[in-house]
Amino acid sequence: CAKDAGRGGWAEFDDKLQAMALERLRIEADLRHAVRRGELVLHYQPLVDLATGCAAGVEALLRWQHPSRGLLSPAAFLSVAEDTDLIFEIGSWVAGEAARRTAEWRAAGTPRRVSINVSAAELLRTDVVATVARAVSDAGAEPGDLVIEVTESAVLTDIESTVAQLEALRALGIGVALDDFGTGFSSLSHLRQLPADEIKIDRTFVAELGHNPVCDAIVASVITLAHAIGLKVVGEGVETDQQRAHLTRLGCDRGQGYLLGRPVPHEDAPPLRAVG
Ligand code: C2E
Ligand code: MG
Ligand code: MG
Ligand code: MG
Repeated sequence: CAKDAGRGGWAEFDDKLQAMALERLRIEADLRHAVRRGELVLHYQPLVDLATGCAAGVEALLRWQHPSRGLLSPAAFLSVAEDTDLIFEIGSWVAGEAARRTAEWRAAGTPRRVSINVSAAELLRTDVVATVARAVSDAGAEPGDLVIEVTESAVLTDIESTVAQLEALRALGIGVALDDFGTGFSSLSHLRQLPADEIKIDRTFVAELGHNPVCDAIVASVITLAHAIGLKVVGEGVETDQQRAHLTRLGCDRGQGYLLGRPVPHEDAPPLRAVG
């Protein structure tokens, strides 16, 4: 690295920036057609009830079957979508697809609650409630089969408008989960104002369980506090038996992570019976 900086460091840096900008433009150009061409898919990962081992629901996670690059995760394209208007078309597709899937599962006698992720930009746009409501009614879905996951950063940008949106969603019977909980700055004070059913403890906390006493204490008190105000708690990123046992011991309601089930296409979505 130091060697790079020696001869023509800035020129090289400039080249790299230019290459990155070009790459983003290519992604954007391809992403413009992705919805219409049917290249987006949702994979589903179970949220497992820790006491019983039963799948309590699934989270829908966006994937892009790119014609030449293969199956892409959100890290490869979501920020491009969020920096352009594309996130609105994509978000609306996600809501529609998830709602249709819940209706299909219900009709097949295997109902599952499906959680979908909503970006800050979507939440700040006032018609997100209408978009989700339309998705539910077009699909003939049960509103209670859908949960909207929002992050703290989304909420922080405009707390008043967000609270109103989340209240409207809950009035329709749609669930609300606070995603990646603990990664923002003033999480606990937000719990007071936010209409939510569930909080999801970020996987960076779960990863340190049993190795970092401060982290153990934070997770334990978040669970206690959440329960005291009537919220369910999900531990994210559960990868080991120790983490699962630790969360169970602390009274955490659900776990999600590679130990309990990976994100899979809808046809492989986990049954509602006990897993692991
Ligand atoms: P998230 O909502 O926090 O979703 C959990 C992420 O953690 C997923 O990554 C999932 O595959 C991953 N994960 C699950 N279990 C484990 C584990 O045991 N270990 C580790 N290391 N990771 C695990 P993914 O699918 O790449 O999604 C990343 C993020 O992209 C999501 O984080 C969410 O913020 C966003 N996202 C995903 N789908 C959508 C979508 O449809 N719309 C929007 N707006 N954002 C989405
Ligand atoms: Mg999520
Ligand atoms: Mg999360
Ligand atoms: Mg996350």
